[in-house]
Amino acid sequence: MHEYKIAAIPADGIGPEVIAAGLQALEALQQRSGDFTLEVQHFDWGSDYYKRTGRMMPEDGPEQLKSFDAIFFGAVGAPDVPDHITLWGLRLPICQGFDQYANVRPTRILPGIASPLAGVGPGDLDWVIVRENSEGEYAGQGGRSHRGLPEEVATEVSIFTRVGVTRIMRYAFRLAQSRPRKHLTVVTKSNAQRHGMVMWDEIAAEVAQEFPDVTWDKMLVDAMTVRMTLKPQSLDTIVATNLHADILSDLAGALAGSLGVAPTANIDPERRYPSMFEPIHGSAFDITGKGIANPIATFWTAAQMLEHLGEGTAAARLMRAVETVTAEGVKTPDVGGKATTQEVTDAVCEAIRGSNI
Ligand code: NAD
Ligand code: MN
Repeated sequence: MHEYKIAAIPADGIGPEVIAAGLQALEALQQRSGDFTLEVQHFDWGSDYYKRTGRMMPEDGPEQLKSFDAIFFGAVGAPDVPDHITLWGLRLPICQGFDQYANVRPTRILPGIASPLAGVGPGDLDWVIVRENSEGEYAGQGGRSHRGLPEEVATEVSIFTRVGVTRIMRYAFRLAQSRPRKHLTVVTKSNAQRHGMVMWDEIAAEVAQEFPDVTWDKMLVDAMTVRMTLKPQSLDTIVATNLHADILSDLAGALAGSLGVAPTANIDPERRYPSMFEPIHGSAFDITGKGIANPIATFWTAAQMLEHLGEGTAAARLMRAVETVTAEGVKTPDVGGKATTQEVTDAVCEAIRGSNI
């Protein structure tokens, strides 16, 4: 019997709704498998905690999380707290503090879910975006002077290091190597950004030599949005900077039907610290409390978490259950259905119980 300690941080908006759904699916999987248990501890950190204490999490928050096997995270963001406070107060300190440098974002079109792209169905769009998650445009460097004056200047400095770029490039090539098509697209903006981005291109070419069985190509990020939209079949594994991949993966989610089906894993590949699993979407206050948040992104990231923990069978079982349910048309309104979060969750749990894998 394997026992895993999971830290659940539902946080804000629909975060608690989708994390509750995810935990129900994980419970059904434990019962179905019988050979692993998840000991889940809840943390009430987030915007309400901030309004009470002036912090998004306690000062020793990361220390409290260190001994867990994984972190299961909802979303941050509240209408009455500035977004940079919620993001820099909780999610980014965990990602950066635990050096979760590989942010892995799979996208494909699930059966029964329509892409907004005409004639594009399951099989036409099957990507994994690898986002550099520790430096780049989100390194937090910069400043403002002459605040509020006409002379005001603000800088937002991107930091790219050879160590940081090499390790994410190796991770992406290795991931591409493990997939059937063995193809990697390296995204930059090395025409306009001639320092860090040119280093990305150079390091990509160096690391490519270690992976002779992987084919690869380069794209500028603006042209990449066009290729994703017009030639989705031509892409497989994609690697990009923190900012570029953040933007491209929201587009990828939309092209696969909804942000509500897009998962992400913040991985420390060296396993020195816990990795963190979350849906890509935010706190979605426009639908909070309505019971219609799509739980599929959270189920999918729960599958990524199980995979990371070494429970590959349970992960496959969960994804099969999700696909069974979407194919049957049990879907929330964002993907054209009428079901509630709880109805989708119940159907997925039922499919897990009846699963033959
Ligand atoms: P959002 O992802 O919260 O919502 C964008 C749109 O997608 C909304 O119309 C929303 O209803 C819809 N949507 C998102 N998730 C859905 C789901 N599971 N089911 C159905 N529909 C869903 O992005 P936003 O509106 O730009 O931001 C809202 C707040 O979330 C902001 O405070 C922002 O800073 C924060 N945010 C947090 C994260 C995170 O925690 N990782 C990510 C993005 C945005
Ligand atoms: Mn984002």
